[in-house]
Amino acid sequence: METLKNYINKKWISSENQSVLEAINPATQEVLAKVPAGSASVKDVEHAVTAAQKAYLEWKNVPVMRRVQPLFELKRLLEENLDDLAETITLESGKTLAESKGELQRAIENVETACGTPMLIQTEFSEDIARGVDEFMIRQPLGVTACIAPFNFPGMITFWFLPYAIACGNAMIVKPSEKVPLTMTKIFKLIDQLDLPEGLINMVHGGKETVDALLEHSLVKSISFVGSTNVARYIYSKGTQHGKRVQAQGGAKNPVVILPDADIDMTAQIVSDSVYGCAGQRCLAASTIVTVGDQSNQIRDALYESAKSKHTGFGLDAGVDMGPVITKESQSRIKTLIDQGISEGGSVLLDGRDVKVSGFENGNFIAPTILENVALDGEIIETEIFGPVMSMVHMNTVEEAIAFVNGSKYGNSACLFTSSGASARKFRNEAMAGNIGINIGVAAPMAQFPFSGWKDSFFGDLHGQGRHAIEFFTQTKVVIERWPKEWSRKF
Ligand code: NAD
Repeated sequence: METLKNYINKKWISSENQSVLEAINPATQEVLAKVPAGSASVKDVEHAVTAAQKAYLEWKNVPVMRRVQPLFELKRLLEENLDDLAETITLESGKTLAESKGELQRAIENVETACGTPMLIQTEFSEDIARGVDEFMIRQPLGVTACIAPFNFPGMITFWFLPYAIACGNAMIVKPSEKVPLTMTKIFKLIDQLDLPEGLINMVHGGKETVDALLEHSLVKSISFVGSTNVARYIYSKGTQHGKRVQAQGGAKNPVVILPDADIDMTAQIVSDSVYGCAGQRCLAASTIVTVGDQSNQIRDALYESAKSKHTGFGLDAGVDMGPVITKESQSRIKTLIDQGISEGGSVLLDGRDVKVSGFENGNFIAPTILENVALDGEIIETEIFGPVMSMVHMNTVEEAIAFVNGSKYGNSACLFTSSGASARKFRNEAMAGNIGINIGVAAPMAQFPFSGWKDSFFGDLHGQGRHAIEFFTQTKVVIERWPKEWSRKF
Protein backbone atom coordinates (compact mmCIF):
# COMPACT_ATOMS: atom_id res chain seq x y z
CA MET A 1 0.00 0.00 0.00
CA GLU A 2 1.37 3.39 -1.06
CA THR A 3 1.97 5.98 1.65
CA LEU A 4 -0.25 9.05 1.22
CA LYS A 5 1.37 12.04 -0.40
CA ASN A 6 1.26 15.68 0.62
CA TYR A 7 -0.27 18.21 -1.77
CA ILE A 8 2.05 21.20 -2.18
CA ASN A 9 2.28 23.68 -5.05
CA LYS A 10 -0.50 21.83 -6.93
CA LYS A 11 1.60 18.64 -6.92
CA TRP A 12 1.36 15.34 -5.04
CA ILE A 13 4.70 15.01 -3.25
CA SER A 14 6.11 12.28 -1.00
CA SER A 15 6.70 13.31 2.58
CA GLU A 16 10.25 13.61 3.87
CA ASN A 17 9.17 11.21 6.65
CA GLN A 18 9.98 7.52 6.26
CA SER A 19 7.87 6.50 9.25
CA VAL A 20 4.11 6.05 8.90
CA LEU A 21 0.92 5.80 10.94
CA GLU A 22 -1.96 3.60 9.82
CA ALA A 23 -5.52 4.76 9.20
CA ILE A 24 -7.83 1.88 10.09
CA ASN A 25 -11.44 1.11 9.18
CA PRO A 26 -13.09 1.05 12.64
CA ALA A 27 -15.67 -1.54 11.57
CA THR A 28 -13.18 -4.10 10.21
CA GLN A 29 -9.63 -3.14 11.32
CA GLU A 30 -8.59 -3.12 7.67
CA VAL A 31 -5.66 -0.76 7.08
CA LEU A 32 -7.01 1.87 4.70
CA ALA A 33 -3.98 4.12 4.33
CA LYS A 34 -0.45 4.74 5.47
CA VAL A 35 0.05 8.28 6.69
CA PRO A 36 3.51 9.84 6.81
CA ALA A 37 4.44 11.23 10.22
CA GLY A 38 7.55 11.95 12.23
CA SER A 39 10.32 14.42 12.84
CA ALA A 40 10.90 15.17 9.15
CA SER A 41 7.49 16.88 9.13
CA VAL A 42 9.37 20.08 9.75
CA LYS A 43 10.75 19.84 6.19
CA ASP A 44 7.30 19.10 4.73
CA VAL A 45 5.90 22.14 6.54
CA GLU A 46 8.78 24.34 5.38
CA HIS A 47 8.11 23.30 1.81
CA ALA A 48 4.36 23.98 2.12
CA VAL A 49 4.83 27.34 3.85
CA THR A 50 7.29 28.53 1.19
CA ALA A 51 4.79 27.62 -1.53
CA ALA A 52 1.88 29.19 0.36
CA GLN A 53 3.70 32.44 1.09
CA LYS A 54 4.57 32.89 -2.58
CA ALA A 55 0.96 32.23 -3.61
CA TYR A 56 -0.40 34.58 -0.95
CA LEU A 57 1.71 37.52 -2.17
CA GLU A 58 -0.03 37.27 -5.56
CA TRP A 59 -3.47 36.21 -4.38
CA LYS A 60 -3.94 39.07 -1.92
CA ASN A 61 -4.01 41.48 -4.88
CA VAL A 62 -6.70 39.54 -6.75
CA PRO A 63 -10.05 41.38 -6.32
CA VAL A 64 -12.36 39.65 -3.86
CA MET A 65 -15.03 39.16 -6.53
CA ARG A 66 -12.52 37.07 -8.50
CA ARG A 67 -11.28 35.25 -5.40
CA VAL A 68 -14.70 33.73 -4.73
CA GLN A 69 -15.17 32.39 -8.27
CA PRO A 70 -13.32 29.08 -7.62
CA LEU A 71 -15.59 28.51 -4.61
CA PHE A 72 -18.65 28.27 -6.88
CA GLU A 73 -16.81 25.55 -8.79
CA LEU A 74 -15.76 23.85 -5.53
CA LYS A 75 -19.41 23.71 -4.44
CA ARG A 76 -20.34 22.07 -7.76
CA LEU A 77 -17.52 19.52 -7.47
CA LEU A 78 -18.39 18.65 -3.87
CA GLU A 79 -22.04 18.13 -4.84
CA GLU A 80 -21.12 16.04 -7.88
CA ASN A 81 -18.82 13.81 -5.78
CA LEU A 82 -20.93 13.74 -2.62
CA ASP A 83 -21.80 10.02 -2.75
CA ASP A 84 -18.20 8.92 -3.26
CA LEU A 85 -16.89 11.25 -0.54
CA ALA A 86 -19.63 10.11 1.86
CA GLU A 87 -18.65 6.47 1.36
CA THR A 88 -15.02 7.32 2.17
CA ILE A 89 -16.08 9.17 5.33
CA THR A 90 -18.05 6.12 6.44
CA LEU A 91 -15.19 3.73 5.71
CA GLU A 92 -12.59 5.69 7.63
CA SER A 93 -14.66 7.18 10.47
CA GLY A 94 -17.35 4.53 10.92
CA LYS A 95 -20.41 6.81 10.87
CA THR A 96 -23.47 5.87 8.81
CA LEU A 97 -23.78 6.87 5.17
CA ALA A 98 -26.66 9.25 5.98
CA GLU A 99 -24.50 10.95 8.62
CA SER A 100 -21.60 11.23 6.16
CA LYS A 101 -23.87 12.86 3.58
CA GLY A 102 -25.23 15.26 6.20
CA GLU A 103 -21.72 16.28 7.17
CA LEU A 104 -20.79 17.04 3.56
CA GLN A 105 -23.95 19.11 3.17
CA ARG A 106 -22.70 21.29 6.06
CA ALA A 107 -19.32 21.63 4.33
CA ILE A 108 -21.03 22.78 1.13
CA GLU A 109 -23.11 25.34 3.04
CA ASN A 110 -19.89 26.90 4.31
CA VAL A 111 -18.55 27.16 0.77
CA GLU A 112 -21.83 28.85 -0.24
CA THR A 113 -21.64 31.29 2.67
CA ALA A 114 -18.01 32.16 1.87
CA CYS A 115 -19.16 33.02 -1.68
CA GLY A 116 -20.76 36.05 0.01
CA THR A 117 -17.35 37.36 1.11
CA PRO A 118 -17.52 40.40 -1.22
CA MET A 119 -20.43 41.60 0.93
CA LEU A 120 -19.15 40.24 4.25
CA ILE A 121 -15.75 41.91 3.91
CA GLN A 122 -17.27 45.40 3.44
CA THR A 123 -16.30 47.85 6.15
CA GLU A 124 -17.03 51.36 7.38
CA PHE A 125 -16.39 54.76 5.84
CA SER A 126 -16.85 58.14 7.48
CA GLU A 127 -16.64 61.28 5.39
CA ASP A 128 -15.53 64.60 6.90
CA ILE A 129 -14.60 63.42 10.38
CA ALA A 130 -12.90 66.84 10.34
CA ARG A 131 -13.06 69.40 7.54
CA GLY A 132 -11.66 67.71 4.40
CA VAL A 133 -10.71 64.57 6.33
CA ASP A 134 -12.18 61.13 5.66
CA GLU A 135 -11.65 57.95 7.64
CA PHE A 136 -12.24 54.39 6.57
CA MET A 137 -11.31 50.84 7.46
CA ILE A 138 -10.12 48.12 5.15
CA ARG A 139 -9.69 44.41 5.79
CA GLN A 140 -6.51 42.80 4.56
CA PRO A 141 -5.57 39.10 4.63
CA LEU A 142 -3.16 37.67 7.21
CA GLY A 143 -0.89 35.63 4.95
CA VAL A 144 -0.33 31.89 5.35
CA THR A 145 -2.98 30.28 7.54
CA ALA A 146 -3.23 26.71 8.84
CA CYS A 147 -6.11 24.41 9.72
CA ILE A 148 -5.69 21.37 11.98
CA ALA A 149 -8.67 19.01 12.02
CA PRO A 150 -9.98 16.21 14.29
CA PHE A 151 -11.14 12.73 13.25
CA ASN A 152 -14.87 12.99 13.82
CA PHE A 153 -15.88 15.09 10.79
CA PRO A 154 -13.30 14.24 8.11
CA GLY A 155 -15.12 16.21 5.41
CA MET A 156 -16.74 19.13 7.23
CA ILE A 157 -14.54 20.82 9.79
CA THR A 158 -11.87 22.10 7.39
CA PHE A 159 -14.69 23.97 5.63
CA TRP A 160 -15.51 26.02 8.74
CA PHE A 161 -12.28 27.83 7.84
CA LEU A 162 -10.84 27.09 4.39
CA PRO A 163 -13.32 28.82 2.05
CA TYR A 164 -13.33 32.00 4.16
CA ALA A 165 -9.52 32.08 4.41
CA ILE A 166 -9.15 31.84 0.66
CA ALA A 167 -11.94 34.30 -0.16
CA CYS A 168 -10.31 36.82 2.21
CA GLY A 169 -7.02 36.61 0.28
CA ASN A 170 -4.99 34.20 2.42
CA ALA A 171 -3.19 30.97 1.55
CA MET A 172 -3.88 27.84 3.63
CA ILE A 173 -2.18 24.66 4.78
CA VAL A 174 -4.54 21.89 5.89
CA LYS A 175 -3.47 19.12 8.26
CA PRO A 176 -6.18 16.43 8.39
CA SER A 177 -6.46 13.99 11.27
CA GLU A 178 -4.03 11.11 10.79
CA LYS A 179 -6.89 8.76 11.74
CA VAL A 180 -9.06 9.81 8.76
CA PRO A 181 -6.76 11.15 6.02
CA LEU A 182 -8.55 9.76 2.97
CA THR A 183 -11.58 12.04 2.72
CA MET A 184 -9.43 15.19 2.64
CA THR A 185 -7.08 13.52 0.15
CA LYS A 186 -10.08 12.98 -2.14
CA ILE A 187 -11.29 16.53 -1.56
CA PHE A 188 -7.84 17.82 -2.53
CA LYS A 189 -8.15 15.93 -5.83
CA LEU A 190 -11.19 18.16 -6.42
CA ILE A 191 -9.36 21.27 -5.20
CA ASP A 192 -6.64 20.39 -7.73
CA GLN A 193 -9.20 20.96 -10.52
CA LEU A 194 -9.89 24.55 -9.42
CA ASP A 195 -8.48 27.57 -11.18
CA LEU A 196 -6.24 28.57 -8.26
CA PRO A 197 -2.58 29.59 -8.14
CA GLU A 198 0.02 26.97 -7.24
CA GLY A 199 0.66 26.84 -3.52
CA LEU A 200 -2.53 28.63 -2.45
CA ILE A 201 -4.12 25.57 -0.79
CA ASN A 202 -1.80 22.82 0.45
CA MET A 203 -2.19 19.68 2.52
CA VAL A 204 0.45 18.21 4.81
CA HIS A 205 -0.23 14.87 6.49
CA GLY A 206 1.10 13.93 9.90
CA GLY A 207 0.59 14.10 13.64
CA LYS A 208 1.99 16.18 16.48
CA GLU A 209 5.30 16.93 14.72
CA THR A 210 3.47 18.51 11.78
CA VAL A 211 1.32 20.57 14.14
CA ASP A 212 4.36 21.75 16.08
CA ALA A 213 6.17 22.74 12.89
CA LEU A 214 3.12 24.82 11.87
CA LEU A 215 2.91 26.40 15.33
CA GLU A 216 6.58 27.35 15.25
CA HIS A 217 6.88 28.67 11.70
CA SER A 218 7.13 32.45 11.64
CA LEU A 219 5.34 32.78 8.29
CA VAL A 220 2.24 30.94 9.52
CA LYS A 221 0.06 33.79 10.74
CA SER A 222 -2.96 31.96 12.08
CA ILE A 223 -4.05 28.58 13.37
CA SER A 224 -7.59 27.23 13.21
CA PHE A 225 -7.77 24.13 15.37
CA VAL A 226 -10.56 21.72 16.29
CA GLY A 227 -9.96 18.76 18.60
CA SER A 228 -9.79 17.73 22.23
CA THR A 229 -9.50 20.29 25.04
CA ASN A 230 -5.99 19.47 26.20
CA VAL A 231 -4.61 19.77 22.70
CA ALA A 232 -6.69 22.91 22.03
CA ARG A 233 -5.24 24.54 25.14
CA TYR A 234 -1.72 23.59 24.05
CA ILE A 235 -2.31 24.90 20.51
CA TYR A 236 -3.67 28.20 21.83
CA SER A 237 -0.83 28.68 24.26
CA LYS A 238 1.98 27.73 21.88
CA GLY A 239 0.43 29.45 18.86
CA THR A 240 -0.05 32.75 20.66
CA GLN A 241 3.45 32.52 22.15
CA HIS A 242 4.67 32.42 18.57
CA GLY A 243 2.67 35.52 17.77
CA LYS A 244 -0.14 33.88 15.82
CA ARG A 245 -3.84 34.52 15.79
CA VAL A 246 -5.43 31.31 17.14
CA GLN A 247 -8.94 29.90 17.28
CA ALA A 248 -8.94 26.54 19.07
CA GLN A 249 -12.18 24.61 19.53
CA GLY A 250 -11.97 21.93 22.20
CA GLY A 251 -13.96 19.10 23.72
CA ALA A 252 -17.37 19.13 25.33
CA LYS A 253 -19.81 17.56 27.74
CA ASN A 254 -23.25 18.67 26.66
CA PRO A 255 -26.15 18.61 29.12
CA VAL A 256 -29.80 18.36 28.12
CA VAL A 257 -32.44 19.49 30.62
CA ILE A 258 -35.94 18.05 30.26
CA LEU A 259 -38.73 19.87 32.09
CA PRO A 260 -41.96 18.13 33.12
CA ASP A 261 -43.97 20.07 30.51
CA ALA A 262 -41.90 18.70 27.58
CA ASP A 263 -43.58 16.52 24.96
CA ILE A 264 -42.37 13.08 26.03
CA ASP A 265 -42.24 11.15 22.76
CA MET A 266 -40.80 13.97 20.66
CA THR A 267 -38.22 14.77 23.34
CA ALA A 268 -37.11 11.16 23.74
CA GLN A 269 -36.66 10.75 20.00
CA ILE A 270 -34.67 13.96 19.55
CA VAL A 271 -32.54 13.44 22.64
CA SER A 272 -31.60 9.86 21.82
CA ASP A 273 -30.73 10.90 18.24
CA SER A 274 -28.45 13.52 19.79
CA VAL A 275 -26.75 11.09 22.19
CA TYR A 276 -26.27 8.24 19.73
CA GLY A 277 -25.81 10.00 16.37
CA CYS A 278 -22.26 9.41 15.04
CA ALA A 279 -21.93 6.92 17.94
CA GLY A 280 -21.78 9.87 20.33
CA GLN A 281 -18.65 11.20 18.64
CA ARG A 282 -19.93 14.72 18.03
CA CYS A 283 -18.76 17.72 19.99
CA LEU A 284 -22.44 18.73 20.27
CA ALA A 285 -23.75 15.29 21.25
CA ALA A 286 -26.00 15.24 24.31
CA SER A 287 -24.26 13.42 27.12
CA THR A 288 -25.86 14.10 30.51
CA ILE A 289 -29.66 14.14 30.64
CA VAL A 290 -31.21 16.07 33.51
CA THR A 291 -34.86 15.32 34.16
CA VAL A 292 -36.65 17.90 36.25
CA GLY A 293 -39.83 17.41 38.29
CA ASP A 294 -42.45 14.71 38.20
CA GLN A 295 -42.40 13.30 34.66
CA SER A 296 -38.99 11.67 34.94
CA ASN A 297 -40.16 8.04 34.92
CA GLN A 298 -42.10 8.51 31.69
CA ILE A 299 -39.14 10.31 30.09
CA ARG A 300 -36.77 7.60 31.27
CA ASP A 301 -38.97 4.85 29.77
CA ALA A 302 -39.34 6.70 26.46
CA LEU A 303 -35.57 7.31 26.25
CA TYR A 304 -34.95 3.64 26.99
CA GLU A 305 -37.33 2.52 24.21
CA SER A 306 -35.82 4.94 21.72
CA ALA A 307 -32.22 3.97 22.58
CA LYS A 308 -33.01 0.25 22.49
CA SER A 309 -34.53 0.54 19.01
CA LYS A 310 -31.27 1.86 17.51
CA HIS A 311 -29.50 -0.61 15.30
CA THR A 312 -25.71 -0.75 15.67
CA GLY A 313 -23.70 -1.97 12.69
CA PHE A 314 -21.53 -1.24 9.67
CA GLY A 315 -22.16 2.29 8.44
CA LEU A 316 -22.64 1.33 4.78
CA ASP A 317 -25.33 -1.26 5.56
CA ALA A 318 -28.97 -0.26 5.17
CA GLY A 319 -31.00 0.13 8.35
CA VAL A 320 -27.99 0.89 10.54
CA ASP A 321 -28.46 3.83 12.93
CA MET A 322 -25.06 3.80 14.61
CA GLY A 323 -21.57 2.73 13.56
CA PRO A 324 -18.45 1.85 15.58
CA VAL A 325 -16.28 4.24 17.57
CA ILE A 326 -13.03 5.32 15.98
CA THR A 327 -10.35 3.07 17.58
CA LYS A 328 -9.89 0.10 19.88
CA GLU A 329 -8.35 2.50 22.44
CA SER A 330 -11.42 4.70 22.26
CA GLN A 331 -13.70 1.67 22.69
CA SER A 332 -11.83 0.50 25.75
CA ARG A 333 -11.67 4.06 27.21
CA ILE A 334 -15.46 4.37 26.87
CA LYS A 335 -16.04 0.97 28.51
CA THR A 336 -13.75 1.97 31.38
CA LEU A 337 -15.77 5.17 31.87
CA ILE A 338 -19.01 3.15 31.95
CA ASP A 339 -17.47 0.83 34.58
CA GLN A 340 -16.40 3.86 36.55
CA GLY A 341 -19.90 5.37 36.36
CA ILE A 342 -21.24 2.12 37.83
CA SER A 343 -18.60 1.98 40.55
CA GLU A 344 -19.49 5.58 41.46
CA GLY A 345 -23.08 4.46 42.19
CA GLY A 346 -24.81 4.62 38.80
CA SER A 347 -26.96 1.74 37.56
CA VAL A 348 -27.15 0.36 34.03
CA LEU A 349 -30.53 0.75 32.38
CA LEU A 350 -29.28 -0.30 28.93
CA ASP A 351 -25.91 -2.00 28.43
CA GLY A 352 -24.23 -1.84 25.01
CA ARG A 353 -20.77 -2.94 26.09
CA ASP A 354 -20.90 -6.48 24.73
CA VAL A 355 -22.72 -5.94 21.47
CA LYS A 356 -21.74 -8.28 18.62
CA VAL A 357 -22.25 -7.23 15.02
CA SER A 358 -22.49 -10.24 12.76
CA GLY A 359 -19.87 -10.14 10.00
CA PHE A 360 -17.97 -7.35 11.80
CA GLU A 361 -16.71 -9.17 14.87
CA ASN A 362 -13.52 -7.06 14.96
CA GLY A 363 -15.31 -3.72 14.83
CA ASN A 364 -15.06 -1.15 17.64
CA PHE A 365 -18.75 -1.35 18.43
CA ILE A 366 -20.55 -0.20 21.55
CA ALA A 367 -24.35 -0.22 21.39
CA PRO A 368 -26.50 2.49 23.01
CA THR A 369 -25.90 2.52 26.74
CA ILE A 370 -27.85 4.29 29.50
CA LEU A 371 -26.65 4.84 33.04
CA GLU A 372 -29.05 6.30 35.58
CA ASN A 373 -28.74 7.85 39.01
CA VAL A 374 -25.08 8.56 38.38
CA ALA A 375 -23.07 10.44 41.00
CA LEU A 376 -23.27 14.18 40.36
CA ASP A 377 -19.60 14.65 41.18
CA GLY A 378 -18.48 11.47 39.39
CA GLU A 379 -16.00 11.04 36.57
CA ILE A 380 -18.82 10.01 34.23
CA ILE A 381 -20.40 13.46 34.69
CA GLU A 382 -17.20 15.45 34.38
CA THR A 383 -15.32 13.70 31.58
CA GLU A 384 -16.08 13.88 27.88
CA ILE A 385 -17.05 10.32 26.94
CA PHE A 386 -17.21 10.75 23.14
CA GLY A 387 -19.16 7.54 22.80
CA PRO A 388 -22.78 6.29 22.76
CA VAL A 389 -23.46 6.67 26.48
CA MET A 390 -26.31 8.58 28.13
CA SER A 391 -25.96 9.46 31.80
CA MET A 392 -29.21 10.35 33.56
CA VAL A 393 -29.61 12.49 36.66
CA HIS A 394 -32.69 13.95 38.29
CA MET A 395 -33.30 17.38 39.84
CA ASN A 396 -36.22 19.14 41.45
CA THR A 397 -36.16 22.59 39.90
CA VAL A 398 -35.06 24.35 36.75
CA GLU A 399 -32.77 26.56 38.87
CA GLU A 400 -30.97 23.47 40.17
CA ALA A 401 -30.64 22.17 36.63
CA ILE A 402 -29.18 25.45 35.35
CA ALA A 403 -26.70 25.50 38.25
CA PHE A 404 -25.68 21.96 37.27
CA VAL A 405 -25.23 22.99 33.60
CA ASN A 406 -23.10 25.94 34.67
CA GLY A 407 -20.95 23.80 36.97
CA SER A 408 -19.36 22.04 34.01
CA LYS A 409 -15.87 23.05 32.92
CA TYR A 410 -17.07 22.77 29.33
CA GLY A 411 -19.42 25.14 27.54
CA ASN A 412 -19.97 23.90 24.00
CA SER A 413 -23.74 23.51 24.16
CA ALA A 414 -26.69 23.14 26.50
CA CYS A 415 -30.22 22.17 25.49
CA LEU A 416 -33.64 22.48 27.11
CA PHE A 417 -36.88 20.65 26.35
CA THR A 418 -40.04 22.40 27.47
CA SER A 419 -43.35 23.84 26.27
CA SER A 420 -42.89 26.96 28.41
CA GLY A 421 -41.62 30.11 26.72
CA ALA A 422 -40.70 31.61 30.08
CA SER A 423 -38.55 28.61 31.03
CA ALA A 424 -36.92 28.65 27.61
CA ARG A 425 -36.14 32.34 27.97
CA LYS A 426 -34.64 31.86 31.42
CA PHE A 427 -32.50 28.97 30.21
CA ARG A 428 -31.16 30.65 27.10
CA ASN A 429 -30.32 33.68 29.20
CA GLU A 430 -28.62 31.91 32.11
CA ALA A 431 -27.02 28.75 30.66
CA MET A 432 -23.28 29.26 30.25
CA ALA A 433 -22.61 27.62 26.91
CA GLY A 434 -21.89 28.96 23.45
CA ASN A 435 -24.64 27.06 21.60
CA ILE A 436 -28.10 26.77 23.13
CA GLY A 437 -30.83 24.42 21.89
CA ILE A 438 -34.48 24.85 22.82
CA ASN A 439 -36.33 21.66 21.87
CA ILE A 440 -33.29 20.94 19.68
CA GLY A 441 -30.93 18.05 20.40
CA VAL A 442 -27.84 19.10 18.47
CA ALA A 443 -27.48 22.89 18.62
CA ALA A 444 -25.17 23.09 15.59
CA PRO A 445 -24.95 26.59 14.14
CA MET A 446 -25.55 26.95 10.41
CA ALA A 447 -22.72 28.32 8.27
CA GLN A 448 -23.89 31.93 8.57
CA PHE A 449 -23.52 31.83 12.39
CA PRO A 450 -20.30 31.49 14.41
CA PHE A 451 -19.61 28.04 15.85
CA SER A 452 -19.55 29.31 19.40
CA GLY A 453 -18.11 27.51 22.37
CA TRP A 454 -17.36 28.74 25.89
CA LYS A 455 -15.08 27.86 28.78
CA ASP A 456 -12.84 24.82 28.13
CA SER A 457 -14.61 24.17 24.83
CA PHE A 458 -12.95 27.13 23.11
CA PHE A 459 -9.72 29.11 23.31
CA GLY A 460 -9.62 32.34 21.38
CA ASP A 461 -12.02 35.12 20.43
CA LEU A 462 -13.34 34.66 16.92
CA HIS A 463 -14.97 31.37 15.98
CA GLY A 464 -15.24 29.47 12.72
CA GLN A 465 -17.97 30.09 10.08
CA GLY A 466 -19.77 33.20 8.87
CA ARG A 467 -18.80 36.74 9.84
CA HIS A 468 -16.47 35.56 12.61
CA ALA A 469 -14.40 33.69 10.02
CA ILE A 470 -14.17 36.81 7.86
CA GLU A 471 -12.95 38.77 10.87
CA PHE A 472 -10.51 36.04 11.89
CA PHE A 473 -8.96 35.78 8.45
CA THR A 474 -8.47 39.50 7.98
CA GLN A 475 -6.69 42.26 9.85
CA THR A 476 -8.20 45.70 9.94
CA LYS A 477 -6.39 48.78 8.76
CA VAL A 478 -7.81 52.21 9.45
CA VAL A 479 -6.92 54.98 7.02
CA ILE A 480 -7.38 58.70 7.72
CA GLU A 481 -7.04 60.90 4.63
CA ARG A 482 -6.91 64.66 4.16
CA TRP A 483 -7.55 66.03 0.69
CA PRO A 484 -8.10 69.81 1.14
CA LYS A 485 -9.66 71.54 -1.88
CA GLU A 486 -6.82 74.05 -2.11
CA TRP A 487 -4.26 71.15 -2.44
CA SER A 488 -6.20 69.39 -5.15
CA ARG A 489 -6.23 72.65 -7.18
CA LYS A 490 -2.42 72.42 -7.42
CA PHE A 491 -2.53 69.23 -9.52
P1 NAD B 1 -7.31 15.36 18.99
O1 NAD B 1 -7.15 16.55 19.86
O2 NAD B 1 -6.71 14.08 19.43
O3 NAD B 1 -6.69 15.65 17.54
C1 NAD B 1 -7.04 16.80 16.80
C2 NAD B 1 -5.86 17.18 15.90
O4 NAD B 1 -4.75 17.54 16.73
C3 NAD B 1 -5.38 16.07 14.99
O5 NAD B 1 -5.11 16.62 13.72
C4 NAD B 1 -4.11 15.55 15.66
O6 NAD B 1 -3.15 15.12 14.74
C5 NAD B 1 -3.60 16.76 16.41
N1 NAD B 1 -2.95 16.41 17.68
C6 NAD B 1 -3.28 15.39 18.51
N2 NAD B 1 -2.50 15.40 19.61
C7 NAD B 1 -1.67 16.46 19.47
C8 NAD B 1 -0.63 16.99 20.29
N3 NAD B 1 -0.30 16.43 21.45
N4 NAD B 1 0.03 18.08 19.84
C9 NAD B 1 -0.30 18.65 18.66
N5 NAD B 1 -1.28 18.18 17.85
C10 NAD B 1 -1.96 17.10 18.25
O7 NAD B 1 -8.88 15.22 18.73
P2 NAD B 1 -9.66 14.02 18.02
O8 NAD B 1 -9.64 12.82 18.91
O9 NAD B 1 -9.20 13.88 16.62
O10 NAD B 1 -11.13 14.64 17.95
C11 NAD B 1 -12.07 14.49 18.98
C12 NAD B 1 -12.12 15.71 19.86
O11 NAD B 1 -12.41 16.87 19.09
C13 NAD B 1 -13.21 15.65 20.91
O12 NAD B 1 -12.71 16.12 22.13
C14 NAD B 1 -14.28 16.57 20.37
O13 NAD B 1 -15.13 17.14 21.35
C15 NAD B 1 -13.46 17.60 19.70
N6 NAD B 1 -14.23 18.33 18.72
C16 NAD B 1 -14.60 19.60 19.02
C17 NAD B 1 -15.38 20.32 18.14
C18 NAD B 1 -15.82 21.72 18.47
O14 NAD B 1 -16.39 22.36 17.60
N7 NAD B 1 -15.58 22.22 19.66
C19 NAD B 1 -15.77 19.74 16.92
C20 NAD B 1 -15.35 18.45 16.64
C21 NAD B 1 -14.58 17.75 17.55
